[in-house]
Amino acid sequence: MNFSNPKTLVFTLSAFVLALYLLLVFAVLPAGDVLLKLVVGVVLSVIVYLVTYALFKKFILEKIKGIYKNIVSHKSQELLDIDIQNTWADDPVKSAGSKVANWSEKQKTEIATLKKQEQFRREFLGNVAHELKTPLFNMQGYILTLLDGGLEDENINMDYLKRAATNADRMISIIEDLDEISRLDSGEIALHKGNFGIVELVSEVFHSLEIQAKKRAMDLKFDKEKSKEIFVFADKDKIRQVLVNLISNALKYGIQGGWVKVQFTDMEDAVMVEIEDNGIGIEEKHLPRLFERFYRVDESRSRELGGSGLGLAIVKHIVEAHQQKIGVRSSVKSGSVFHFTLEKKRK
Ligand code: ADP
Repeated sequence: MNFSNPKTLVFTLSAFVLALYLLLVFAVLPAGDVLLKLVVGVVLSVIVYLVTYALFKKFILEKIKGIYKNIVSHKSQELLDIDIQNTWADDPVKSAGSKVANWSEKQKTEIATLKKQEQFRREFLGNVAHELKTPLFNMQGYILTLLDGGLEDENINMDYLKRAATNADRMISIIEDLDEISRLDSGEIALHKGNFGIVELVSEVFHSLEIQAKKRAMDLKFDKEKSKEIFVFADKDKIRQVLVNLISNALKYGIQGGWVKVQFTDMEDAVMVEIEDNGIGIEEKHLPRLFERFYRVDESRSRELGGSGLGLAIVKHIVEAHQQKIGVRSSVKSGSVFHFTLEKKRK
């Protein structure tokens, strides 16, 4: 018998009262009308059942309500009442126990998430300060040297001014990337999705990066003869940015005289875009963290090439905002393949 169920408990109590009554009237007062005694007994136990049940319910519900009020303070009173009534139907104490356990588990997870976010924020701020410090100190150094008489020295004045300007450009590019990532983070940027041809978009991006490719004598090409356009459904401007970031990385970390190849695979309900290079490649141990903000395999090389360390984080953000997937395969000295999916065009 389930004594944690209030109905069973009260029923047992009433049965006990009835048994006691019958024992009393038949053992102590054997004379009299048997039927009347039985009827009085049943009526008495029904009254005991109803009164005890009502009092019991009120007592327990009041206690549970107190507990619930503490844990579900955000819920409206109405919702709270419904919850408690439902709870009462079965095993109120067990149900309250499991609800409190659920609630405490949820709180624990929330606290862990908040702690992680807090640590992430601290690290992020530290990284931002570190990133901005280098170009700023460089600029300061060049300007102070120029002020200290360097301005009159024709051997260094133009060179130092140019270097100061390059550092200012670097700061601007870091700040632009930071601005982009914080806007993506806050969900401030809505995606403007539409159908467009991905082959044509890649051709456009190739065109815009031609000068960068020529500087390193690198070839920008499609894997096969691009005979057929493939239409996808996405935010064209954002996907352009993804392509620019991935293709310019392939150029930056590619080898002199190497190539960057783009390939499309028509899958069941998506299109896979792959950007491959025959560059320096990435060691396996770096791959899981590659898309994190400010994560670089070779810090000095990235800085030398003007990287902010935010390019891949922005790319991942955009692809995931489209509910699509991004990944990378790479082997040192052979090259890397960055791949992401796109939804196929909508009718
Ligand atoms: P960065 O501004 O440093 O290029 P990214 O977020 O774009 O920042 O890339 C992060 C790091 O990933 C780079 O510093 C580089 O070490 C590595 N990386 C990115 N793309 C490639 C690639 N195609 N080949 C080799 N390494 C790459």
